[in-house]
Amino acid sequence: MSRTPGPGLADQPVSSLKGVGPGLRDRLAKLGIASVQDLLFHLPLRYQDRTRITPIGRVRPGQDVMVEGELLSAEVEFGRRRSLLCRLRDDSGMIGLRFYYFSAAQRKRLQPGTRLRCYGEVRPGKTGPEIYHPEYRDTAEQPPVEDHLTPIYPATEGLQQTRLRALMEQALERLDSGNTLQEWLPELFRPPGLPVSLAEAVQYVHRPPVDARIELLELGEHPSQQRLAFEELLAHRLSMRRIREQARQFSAPALPATGTLTRQLLNSLPFPLTGAQQRVLRDISTDLSEPVPGLRLLQGDVGSGKTVVAALAALQAAENDHQAVIMAPTELLAEQHFITFSEWLAPLGIHVGWLSGRVKGRRRDEQLALISSGTARVVVGTHALFQDEVHFHRLGLVIIDEQHRFGVHQRLALREKGAGPDGSSKTLPHQLVMTATPIPRTLAMSAYADLEVSVIDELPPGRTPVNTVVISSDRRDQVIERIREACRNGSQVYWVCTLIEESEALQCQAAEATAALLAEQLPELRIGLVHGRMKAADKTSVMDHFKQGAFQLLVATTVIEVGVDVPNASVMIIENPERLGLAQLHQLRGRVGRGSRASHCLLLYQTPLSRAGRERLMIMRDSNDGFHIAEQDLRLRGPGQVLGTRQTGLMDFRVADLQRDQALLSLTLPVADRLLKEYPEHVTPLIQRWLGERELYGNV
Ligand code: ADP
Ligand code: MG
Repeated sequence: MSRTPGPGLADQPVSSLKGVGPGLRDRLAKLGIASVQDLLFHLPLRYQDRTRITPIGRVRPGQDVMVEGELLSAEVEFGRRRSLLCRLRDDSGMIGLRFYYFSAAQRKRLQPGTRLRCYGEVRPGKTGPEIYHPEYRDTAEQPPVEDHLTPIYPATEGLQQTRLRALMEQALERLDSGNTLQEWLPELFRPPGLPVSLAEAVQYVHRPPVDARIELLELGEHPSQQRLAFEELLAHRLSMRRIREQARQFSAPALPATGTLTRQLLNSLPFPLTGAQQRVLRDISTDLSEPVPGLRLLQGDVGSGKTVVAALAALQAAENDHQAVIMAPTELLAEQHFITFSEWLAPLGIHVGWLSGRVKGRRRDEQLALISSGTARVVVGTHALFQDEVHFHRLGLVIIDEQHRFGVHQRLALREKGAGPDGSSKTLPHQLVMTATPIPRTLAMSAYADLEVSVIDELPPGRTPVNTVVISSDRRDQVIERIREACRNGSQVYWVCTLIEESEALQCQAAEATAALLAEQLPELRIGLVHGRMKAADKTSVMDHFKQGAFQLLVATTVIEVGVDVPNASVMIIENPERLGLAQLHQLRGRVGRGSRASHCLLLYQTPLSRAGRERLMIMRDSNDGFHIAEQDLRLRGPGQVLGTRQTGLMDFRVADLQRDQALLSLTLPVADRLLKEYPEHVTPLIQRWLGERELYGNV
């Protein structure tokens, strides 16, 4: 086919699509979407089948169905939790629609006699099948029956699925009408058996036809997805390769261990290092002593003691009269590190600097001066540290405490902050990225083949493992009693509300409703609430209050998963844990069990639980080992599980999955070599397409 290529979609800004004004443009930018190509590579997490209406009499629990019928009644029920129950009928049967959160306006619109089309998951209710919080529309609006499977996209606040879908339609139309998605992979390089062209693959995953095999799609094993996954894995590998290669062109200050400072800290610690900590420290120490930039990934389960390792590494830089900087992903975590580092390092005469977005005005100028003069030999902060105005005197080591939130290797891109005072720019600092992501060893080996990896595979001794209980939400009352008792004994408690679908707004609403309900049931307790829609300052303030014990019970959305440390909190309730990936549950649970008290984690699941769901929760009950859990999680993920890599907390891939696509991963190795050699000019656009802003962020 010799159609002259139309204009490239990579060069068309999203704002060229109808209806994309500055507001929407900014929201899309948050998802890393700037061009029409970016939009097309924003791939569905999963699919729904709205191509047919199921007769109500034929629905089965556990199914996602679309039903249509007439509303018979809509009544508020006052049970343990107030809810609005509507009954919907068609010729074949009746089904309940239950709303735990509803507005007065909503209730008014749900009049008997109204005909609705609903979509949602069927659950067995008290008097028959029910759908909780169905999506619904009045049939008077004549909602069309879809002619292809409905994609569900990763969304962001203020950007609904329907909106994303409408935009995607426009983008796909452009692709149909001859605008091009540049192929960067010469045909010869594509893995055999995946002959689909890029444009076809993209079309397919966004609009799978009615007869598409949804099981294959859900598994991510459709050839179209595999075609994309291959390219994505290749882009990641190329990016890692490049980072590594770039590093080799630079030199770094050699910072050999002298022990003058590190020994002092070791002597002042109330505990000896574990064997694993000593081992990884030796690795890091060797990196630092070399005159080439070290680039190491440090993996260690929650609570394995990465912070003290970071502090000792920072001291080795300080011993050599160089600065070290440690960056955390959130204000809260950064502040916590600042406090810890100050306690440990100030007695050694090391001034610890502090910088975050919240440090403003005079205080900010002061900190900037301390950093640029070198007075602050160790600096802690958020990524505000990488702004242009921040100049280091002599930066020797950059430590990034990623936790598991982000992709890891992008951030290894070297920072340009290492230029010496004389402006010599060929020197770069050493770099250490710390992550709690429990990537199974075998996978880490292949996925990070281009990086140095150290693992802390041992927890400090004397930890009482968190006792995990799996309990049905029917026994919520007992859970309330447990909370009452724990607080009476001076403990503090987390109550975690999990994500409802992809909507952060709904999640926050749910947390608010839960906090209100708990306040009624536990009037004697001081209850705090923290969720993703609150301002950063408010979040921090609530967390501070909790840390100081002003709140006994903290109701939270999953925002707390990123590293808060409240040793007195010894009980955590996770509502609807079946919605989360195991890695994420493990991270959450790591927030308790930090003090001397025996700790408990109550997984309060919604009945009925699928067999796979049950098995997953049992793994949580039976193990406290992040690596074991990650491995089991990967083993169990199978048909019907709606898990993106996003939710498992592994790496941030769009379609690829390290476990599933291991075969593809090994195929990328020779292709990466050849592409670099024979088509070097294709490398940047390929990386840009898949990692886009995320790679850029690594270079901030
Ligand atoms: P993480 O790896 O999750 O960042 P932290 O560094 O926060 O873990 O360590 C968790 C807790 O364990 C801290 O209170 C820390 O002081 C303590 N700790 C670290 N190393 C040891 C050790 N070798 N022995 C006993 N306690 C330790
Ligand atoms: Mg930590």
